[in-house]
Amino acid sequence: MNRRTFLKAGIGGTAIVAVGTSGYHFLHTEDVHGKILIIGGGAAGCSFAARLMRRIKDPDITLIDPSDRQYYQPGFTFIASGIFRPDEVWKPQQECIPQGVKWVKDHVVALDPVAQKARTASGEEYAYDFLVLTPGLQLDWDKVEGISRDTLGDGNAHCIYDFQGAQRTWPALEAFVKKGGHGIFTDTYTKHKCGGAPKKICLLGEHLARQKGTRDHLQFDYFCSEKALYDVPLYTPRLLEIYDERGINLQVNTRVKGIDTQAKKVHLQRVVEGEVQDTFVEDYDFLSFVPPQSAPDFVKESGLSWTEGKLAKGGWVMVDKETLVHQTYPNVVSLGDVAGIPTSKTSSAVRIQLPVAVENLISLMQGKEPTRHYNGYACCPIVTDYGHVLLCEFDYNKDADITFPFSLLDMSKEQHVGWLLKKYFLKPMFFHAMLRGWM
Ligand SMILES: Cc1cc2nc3c(=O)[nH]c(=O)nc-3n(C[C@H](O)[C@H](O)[C@H](O)COP(=O)(O)OP(=O)(O)OC[C@H]3O[C@@H](n4cnc5c(N)ncnc54)[C@H](O)[C@@H]3O)c2cc1C
Repeated sequence: MNRRTFLKAGIGGTAIVAVGTSGYHFLHTEDVHGKILIIGGGAAGCSFAARLMRRIKDPDITLIDPSDRQYYQPGFTFIASGIFRPDEVWKPQQECIPQGVKWVKDHVVALDPVAQKARTASGEEYAYDFLVLTPGLQLDWDKVEGISRDTLGDGNAHCIYDFQGAQRTWPALEAFVKKGGHGIFTDTYTKHKCGGAPKKICLLGEHLARQKGTRDHLQFDYFCSEKALYDVPLYTPRLLEIYDERGINLQVNTRVKGIDTQAKKVHLQRVVEGEVQDTFVEDYDFLSFVPPQSAPDFVKESGLSWTEGKLAKGGWVMVDKETLVHQTYPNVVSLGDVAGIPTSKTSSAVRIQLPVAVENLISLMQGKEPTRHYNGYACCPIVTDYGHVLLCEFDYNKDADITFPFSLLDMSKEQHVGWLLKKYFLKPMFFHAMLRGWM
């Protein structure tokens, strides 16, 4: 059996993980000591806590997170396209935080890695011996002129990266498709979570128009901030072909500067290698945009971020890309969206980072060197229509790292089985296996 394949693969991995090498660790616990503080209890923080609870004896774990709810964020795209109901994508946070973990329902506002303590909005301080930094990323709404989170959806300018925003998108997308007009879909120039999401909502909108028989009355434009729509050689040709076949106009090196929601005009900038080439305005009837994204402010101010190189810009945490251990402070591990590593910010990546980060933390607690390595694996299921998914799996080198256990299928093309996986399996897998520390 190819262990790596089954450990990573969505459905196969769930059952096998309990008996695979990774699962073997669940059979015994390590007798290690120290106060562990986890900041952020989302996909990474909660799953980390659950996994660690099974791995160490009498753990002393405190988790700080202000949220009442645990969201399955990949479901936001499906809310925005009418596939999931909003109440299907979240559970009360209380049900997701593992028993035995002390939950502090508060925001961290300051973090001092020298003094080894964090301060919350209420003024309390929490000291730690070991820190797990998993607060995700922040959406920088103020970096799009004319937009605020509270007015999302006004002037038909929509964003699926927000739970409310995704809910407002669906009726507007349906109405746009019915009525006809000019649809503009964009992404953003910073590193952002799930680079596939802006493409998915565009492709689903276009397919919806064909299903409703209104495609001829609609124009679809996709403005991509990067110099290429996608950069994983196995999947890029087919993705470009799909855009072409479906008449979606693609422009690269183009980003949103601001939106005039009253006039329904979007201000765009063509930027090539950091140089602004020109600025132009497009009228729209429906707009999907993505705000720039960065590490939460308290992380940027903590001294834990990269100070040079590409990852310094967003304030991402300076961890070793293989061990996920901080490069200056060896009592800090970081994973998930906030981690400064050159891979896609997805929960599929988190799933593969988890065993690496947990086992390496245990090694550090034992005074040993971290030995587990992460290869940059991420999976981005690009939903190409209501029925197909291009299941893009790759590693740090942008080499395809296919784990899906149906080798007879050509995974460089969209497949129906990927749709079934995305629509029916991944959400329950997230809530019932990953967050419970089973994978
Ligand atoms: C529209 C959309 C579509 C997506 N599609 C996919 C997909 O198809 N496949 C995929 O694998 N991934 C997808 N993702 C990405 C995926 O959801 C994230 O990569 C994943 O949630 C990252 O986990 P995380 O724990 O790092 O961050 P999060 O899950 O965002 O959790 C961060 C946690 O930190 C907490 N926090 C924030 N600030 C503080 C603070 N100051 N103090 C304490 N706690 C704090 C938050 O309350 C939250 O609970 C998508 C995301 C979006 C938005």
